[in-house]
Amino acid sequence: MGHVVVIGAGQAGAALVARLRGDGFDGAITLIGQERVPPYQRPPLSKDYLLGEMELERLFLRPAGFYADHGIDLRLATRAGAIDRAARTVTLADGEVLHYDKLALTTGAVPRRLPAAIGGHLPGVLVMRDLADADALAPLLREGARVAVIGGGYIGLEAAAVCAQKGMRVTLIEAADRILQRVAAPATSDWFRTLHRAHGVDIREGTGVTRIEGSARAEAVLLGDGTRIDADLVIVGVGVAPDTALAQSAGLVIDNGIATDEFTRTSDPDIHAAGDCASLVFNGERIRIEAVSNAIDMGEAAARNIMGRATPYRPAPWFWSDQYDVHLQIAGLGGGHDAVHVRQDGSGRSHWYFAGDRLIAVDAMNDARAYMLGKRLIEAGRSPAPEVVCDPATDLKALLRG
Ligand code: NAP
Repeated sequence: MGHVVVIGAGQAGAALVARLRGDGFDGAITLIGQERVPPYQRPPLSKDYLLGEMELERLFLRPAGFYADHGIDLRLATRAGAIDRAARTVTLADGEVLHYDKLALTTGAVPRRLPAAIGGHLPGVLVMRDLADADALAPLLREGARVAVIGGGYIGLEAAAVCAQKGMRVTLIEAADRILQRVAAPATSDWFRTLHRAHGVDIREGTGVTRIEGSARAEAVLLGDGTRIDADLVIVGVGVAPDTALAQSAGLVIDNGIATDEFTRTSDPDIHAAGDCASLVFNGERIRIEAVSNAIDMGEAAARNIMGRATPYRPAPWFWSDQYDVHLQIAGLGGGHDAVHVRQDGSGRSHWYFAGDRLIAVDAMNDARAYMLGKRLIEAGRSPAPEVVCDPATDLKALLRG
């Protein structure tokens, strides 16, 4: 059945190759990854792993022997240098040339950094994306040390929670008017602001960073409003950019990531893409879904399409975040909502996003039931009336039957 080459050994690449074998593909498979370790989960890196509460081995998606046992040629510490679409080859950085019948790009995303011109290059300024980042950061989390966290997205908030739990003095700076602005409604931002402040985190919103000061290493962060925040450590979580370099030099269409159609194909039908690097059309818009759920589901859909089983990819995104003792679960995408309704059910709380009459997303804080039933309602295309959802006397499960 030919040779499938997969470039990128993150969650999407690992899901893709496992699905190929799981569905009976008996051709050759090569999975190429730049890191030295087999594919691993990233979400715990900014949570339990950073806190020191999770062993390295538990991060691995599959036991080390899985790939060889399933005839998957896993090339670690290997960079793919160029794709020749006419010859259907991938040239590796060491010069080796691999021929492919189908190619998949699961190259992920790279963290944005602050420019060197404003001190972004100084020692003591760290990003949080991969295992090496977490291993560099963990030993610097010392009780009493001062940390400035730049960016109030999930990376920034999770890092702030870990630092506060380690007894550090934490200031979090968000350039937008409110934390989580890109991904959540004001009600959710407000709820997490209150949570972090209760743990002693100093949250500054609506002001960006103009400069990181320091000579040998970072010493302070200067804000747009003139404030100077002394810091022993700076953690930068200002978003990610899709890793499209290889696809771009191969001449594939790039549109907010590597553009894919509903069958996970790029502009070259022999090349598929999945995960954080890929863009797709969802609710009429070309977006990227930066989520583990998307990496797995899209990777698996790509595997099926590569095997010739035309499988349209219809994302059903979900996310989670752990901060202190709060387990946040999110179903759906809230972009385009025009109203958010709150359900308080004992200690569980959930925010229900509506676009017109249509339920599109739910944020649930320590309320697994609201999350699960909200997700099922969204996936079933059911939209109960907001006042019914928000009445704690309503049995949410009954709404699925009704
Ligand atoms: P993000 O969601 O894009 O958040 C970055 C935040 O930093 C934005 O609010 C951004 O504001 C702000 N920002 C940008 N430049 C800034 C500056 N110079 N000063 C202060 N604030 C600035 O990205 P992220 O938190 O870095 O996370 C990276 C990716 O990992 C995302 O895809 C995220 O969803 C994912 N992730 C997910 C989880 C989870 O689901 N639990 C956990 C961790 C990471 P603007 O929007 O105004 O630019």
